[in-house]
Amino acid sequence: MPQVGNAGQPLRVAIIGSGPAGFYTVSNFLKHKELHVEMDMFERLPTPFGLVRSGVAPDHQKYKTVTRAFDKSAQNTNFRFYGNVTYGEHLTLDDLKQRYHQIIVCSGASSDRSLDVPGEDLTGSYSATDFVAWYNGHPDYVDYEFDLNQESAAIVGLGNVAVDVARILCKTDDELKDSDIADHAMEALRGSKVKKVYILGRRGPVQAAYTPPEIKEVGELEDTDVIVLRDEAELDDASRDEMETKGDRNTQKNVAVIQAFPDRQLQGKTKQLTIRFLVSPTDIVGEDGQVTAIKIVKNEAYRSDDGSVRARATEQEEIIPVGLVFRSVGYRGLPVPEIPFNENWGTIYNDHGRVTNESGEVQTGLYTAGWIKRGPTGVIGTNKTDAQETVNAMVEDLKAGKILDPSFSDREAAAVMIEEKQPDVISWEDWVKIDQAEVEKGQKTNRPRVKFTRVSDMLDMLGR
Ligand code: NAP
Repeated sequence: MPQVGNAGQPLRVAIIGSGPAGFYTVSNFLKHKELHVEMDMFERLPTPFGLVRSGVAPDHQKYKTVTRAFDKSAQNTNFRFYGNVTYGEHLTLDDLKQRYHQIIVCSGASSDRSLDVPGEDLTGSYSATDFVAWYNGHPDYVDYEFDLNQESAAIVGLGNVAVDVARILCKTDDELKDSDIADHAMEALRGSKVKKVYILGRRGPVQAAYTPPEIKEVGELEDTDVIVLRDEAELDDASRDEMETKGDRNTQKNVAVIQAFPDRQLQGKTKQLTIRFLVSPTDIVGEDGQVTAIKIVKNEAYRSDDGSVRARATEQEEIIPVGLVFRSVGYRGLPVPEIPFNENWGTIYNDHGRVTNESGEVQTGLYTAGWIKRGPTGVIGTNKTDAQETVNAMVEDLKAGKILDPSFSDREAAAVMIEEKQPDVISWEDWVKIDQAEVEKGQKTNRPRVKFTRVSDMLDMLGR
């Protein structure tokens, strides 16, 4: 094979997925000025940015400004976007192997973990990540229905998604009016009868997975009182010890926010958000197939052999009447066709980004970055260093000649194949038109954008 990575024979890279990990792969490659790299990005939806568009809360616009950097990467003439193209449906691994020297999977984690308690399948018991995708206007979730006629809702989990869901359920119309929440969700929330929301954490305030700005923000809601039980805000011995030995600034801030709540006077606001600690659900109780309550057990904290503070159940049980339950115990990656997948972890088998088989043997030319590589943890920026690690491995392998040997390694051959396989392919220019139409619609009502929520509407707008 002639030397690859120069103007005569550019390195050709296929990127599967257009979320942060995909775009940080692009920006990391662009830093390698010595290399001539052509990158084609494949995205199942017509719209790019993954969870930045459909996961980040609609009232947290500042987190979405990261897309400006992604836009900039997309302007590079060696970058192409192929939206509305599904790897595994329109394209096979062999299609890609025949046209690219390297393939990187950045497909994220589009499912969620289950709770494994009885009653999880009752009507009224939902995945928080489905709810998030629905209120963010993800086309796969437009027709989902969430019964907001219930007065009480429990959210299981102490992460940022749990806090996002609680905030969206508690915010007033006025507090959401400047967001890019999907119209169907705004309408449903306007008619919502939910007045009591419970966040249920299995461990204590020291071990909470949310971040300080997010938990602080719930204390500033316009029409919601926050309730934290004084004895649950107090730290048990194991947690106090953990905080003293390895508690970072964020943990200290989280604890301070929680410990201030019991001293606050309730102001008789319309909604109440109760944050509970050291409780685990044991049963989602129902009647006629509908959730009516959640049974919880009080936990006690203990130091495990590995030094971490864990929770174990006591015999003290409690029943909280609720008509809705959102499990918010983490996202989960889904298998990617023809790529070795670790079912236990919900991630692709890999060694620092190089895809391996189950026995750890590296699969030449295959790479991964982001949540599907390391699991659903960290903030958007965490994917930058994560993608950097993989891109470094890709560049190292290129230099060592460990790349694929595609039969059709010119750009046009790939373009022709993709057009043949998916005539409704969406280019970056098409996406810019979709984006502009959404932003223009938003300007009429002082919102950042009004999203298209159906693929067919996006295609119609483009005159397809
Ligand atoms: P997460 O941060 O991993 O939190 C999951 C929560 O679920 C933890 O509190 C965990 O408790 C709990 N949990 C797990 N299994 C449980 C069980 N069986 N019973 C009860 N509780 C259980 O996940 P996430 O909230 O889905 O967020 C995913 C990632 O996206 C995180 O990195 C998050 O920070 C990020 N995110 C960030 C923002 C933001 O920056 N504003 C917004 C949304 C999401 P344990 O700790 O005890 O395991």
